[in-house]
Amino acid sequence: MIACLDLEGVLVPEIWINVAERTGIEALRRTTRDEPDYDTLMQFRLGILDEHGISLGQIQDVIDGMGPLPGAAEFLDWLRARAQVIILSDTFYPFAAPLMRQLGYPCLFCHELEVNSEDRITGYKLRIDDGKRRAVRALRELNFRVVASGDSYNDTTMLGEADAGILFCPPQNVIEEFPQYPVTRDYDELRRAFIEASGGEIVADGSSLA
Ligand SMILES: [Mg+2]
Repeated sequence: MIACLDLEGVLVPEIWINVAERTGIEALRRTTRDEPDYDTLMQFRLGILDEHGISLGQIQDVIDGMGPLPGAAEFLDWLRARAQVIILSDTFYPFAAPLMRQLGYPCLFCHELEVNSEDRITGYKLRIDDGKRRAVRALRELNFRVVASGDSYNDTTMLGEADAGILFCPPQNVIEEFPQYPVTRDYDELRRAFIEASGGEIVADGSSLA
């Protein structure tokens, strides 16, 4: 079995919302929860950064101070001891790097940024369109059972492609639009959902759920 996890909203806070809070730029609070079209959202964000003259280094400073969500590192350790884990994210390697260090360098598939000589972000490069879903499909073609978990719109195709999908702390509109997926609201519930979805590969262990 391979567990595919979304990053933001599942293991770490929403990066852009934290950047919005630190910089005081309210417009940067928009996420995939508000705007399902990722390219529209990214072009909007890059335009705002350019307008305010914000560098990659400044964003990395904010991310450095964020850290994972409380309990996320322990949950990930638990899961990695029981299944292969791949984090499938729509973030970018330079943004994720400090968080990966704090999570013990799990496997991460995400995107690339284009940065100029003045450390300004000039664009982004998606590895491939609909990458989360394609990654899950490729893993299943390799004969792995895939259980996926995410929190928002950009995870729903990945959940649909997996053998089982689990929502973690989703917003109400995602719950209503995708009632086929079980909803979990903390890491103990997520552990239980992975045990149930694992087809017997992960065995319930009283101590790990305490
Ligand atoms: Mg997310």
